[in-house]
Amino acid sequence: MRFQCQPGCIRCCEQKGFVYLTREDIARIAEHVGITRAEFKRRYLCGTAPLLRFRKQRHKACPFLLTGGCSIHEIKPLQCSSFPFWPELLAKASERRETAEYCPGMNKGPLVNIELARAKADEVQRAFPQLYEEEE
Ligand code: SF4
Ligand code: SF4
Repeated sequence: MRFQCQPGCIRCCEQKGFVYLTREDIARIAEHVGITRAEFKRRYLCGTAPLLRFRKQRHKACPFLLTGGCSIHEIKPLQCSSFPFWPELLAKASERRETAEYCPGMNKGPLVNIELARAKADEVQRAFPQLYEEEE
């Protein structure tokens, strides 16, 4: 597997689907924004714990997506920073092919260190066991 994120691209942020956040994500981003966790949840999140996710806005897939890209890039949620090293993508070539249809970074750049990619996928699976229960 080759992968290299392409500068200026925001295609993955514009996809349908949800961005789920871990407790650590919430604490880190709330601190960065300068509000309490409770206020952060009220303003930006929906869903039921432990599967809390960004609330979608009418014309925007993610509240932190700006024209120039992710406004919290350095501290973005685990789900975003781990892409495309998600368990389902490492497990299935068909998922990687589908992802390559919108992600121009797939099949580009250097070969991925598979151990590092697996470690990232494991971290995602541990963070969101509910999302992967059915596949186990
Ligand atoms: S779609 Fe792929 S290349 Fe584009 S920002 Fe996301 S990971 Fe990077
Ligand atoms: S938090 Fe940033 S990287 Fe994640 S979906 Fe939103 S804009 Fe994209």
